[in-house]
Amino acid sequence: MSLQTGEPSFRQSVDLMFTRAAALMDLPPGLEEKIRVCNATYTVRFGVRLRGEIRTFTGYRAVHSEHMEPVKGGIRYALAVNQDEVEALAALMTYKCALVEAPFGGSKGGLCIDPGAYSEEELEKITRRFAYELIKRDLIHPAQNVPAPDMGTGEREMAWIADQYARMTTTDINARACVTGKPIHAGGIQGRVEATGRGVQYALREFFRHPEDVAKAGLSGTLDGKRVIVQGLGNVGFHAALFLSTEDGCRITHVIERDGAVENPAGLDIMGLRDWIATHGGVTGYPGGTYHPDGARLLEAACDILIPAAMEGVITIHNAAAIKAPLILEAANGPVTAGADDILRARGSVIIPDLYANAGGVTVSYFEWVKNLSHIRFGRMQRRQEESRHQLLVDELERLSADSGIGWTLSPDFKQKYLRGAGELELVRSGLDDTMRAAYQSMRAVWWEHPGVTDLRMAGFLVAIGRVADSYQAKGI
Ligand code: GLU
Repeated sequence: MSLQTGEPSFRQSVDLMFTRAAALMDLPPGLEEKIRVCNATYTVRFGVRLRGEIRTFTGYRAVHSEHMEPVKGGIRYALAVNQDEVEALAALMTYKCALVEAPFGGSKGGLCIDPGAYSEEELEKITRRFAYELIKRDLIHPAQNVPAPDMGTGEREMAWIADQYARMTTTDINARACVTGKPIHAGGIQGRVEATGRGVQYALREFFRHPEDVAKAGLSGTLDGKRVIVQGLGNVGFHAALFLSTEDGCRITHVIERDGAVENPAGLDIMGLRDWIATHGGVTGYPGGTYHPDGARLLEAACDILIPAAMEGVITIHNAAAIKAPLILEAANGPVTAGADDILRARGSVIIPDLYANAGGVTVSYFEWVKNLSHIRFGRMQRRQEESRHQLLVDELERLSADSGIGWTLSPDFKQKYLRGAGELELVRSGLDDTMRAAYQSMRAVWWEHPGVTDLRMAGFLVAIGRVADSYQAKGI
């Protein structure tokens, strides 16, 4: 328990959520503890010569569970990174991967650094040095531990890590599979950058396909016209907000950022706002909405859906009672503390939990890893064959229509859509959509049917723990 916040630490919070679910399960003696604990955390302190001096950096790689290998999880660059945080995030990776059936154990890494304080050249030096430390201990390895982007890192850092690994293992034909979230030209996959935000969209679409679930949140109808608050317009929040507003008819009424919040009841222009933030460094002064300096208070504004997409611990015992959103989707990892979760649950809010809601990233990472190991782009073999079979059908329909004198014509729009064979992006989206639907359905079945299960988080943990337990038992430990 932290004296400052009056709440458990992030890792303890994840453990509390785990324990609530595990208490409903009939696990063999000792297995609950085996699954809950973090297997190992490696701490490294290394020096990099920068600006005429040696600067020492501290980094971590936590491995939570190796019931399946490789283990998987991002690398975060932030000043607040610490052991408790990486262990909490690694644990969430274990449950997330199990829930969406990505065949990985859970891991997470972090470097205590303010990436904004360094030039690109300096960051490359630091990243390569950090990667070197992890690679030489097999903590980056295509068969053992596969990092990915997280807060403060992206494609650029992943490309440096992949290259560092390739330099150190020159004969490894699978070197590119040592890390995911790489740029396309460095072995990445189409759709990975948008994947977590796309997953958020697919998660909400699936939720709204079940009117009984929607009713539990006191809502009705479809996503169309729903008022949404998004906290954090980083990679996840931006893509989620963009897709929900441009493809599903949601109104993004508030965006909360570091320097405040902007509000527009008619719906914010997400592209315009993102460009503004990119050039002005924040939301202050954005002409497309009303500015509020106290951004965090806007988490409490009236809306239909609240999407915290920034970081952990933003909805706490101190503000939970004031949150008005009937539906909360956790696009960030751990945005709701265990104490806040109790308060929100008691009030009847429905939470679509992080281990499901933001699993789109690791799902597409899984596809990228498979692509790297198979050394071929998805769709490369089938696309034209699929197109020629569709062409056959269209030609035959047109011939029948002409011969019979009916005179039907296929609309050009239908023909264009139907004739196009699926490329990598379409296949990635299809695989992600299927994954998000299937995972939600496994969770909601437990939510509705398992006695004692009160909420989707508990249901998600139950499904995930069950799968990890099965895997440990099959291995015979
Ligand atoms: N860092 C992301 C997450 O928290 C992605 C992890 C991955 O792709 O391995 O889920």
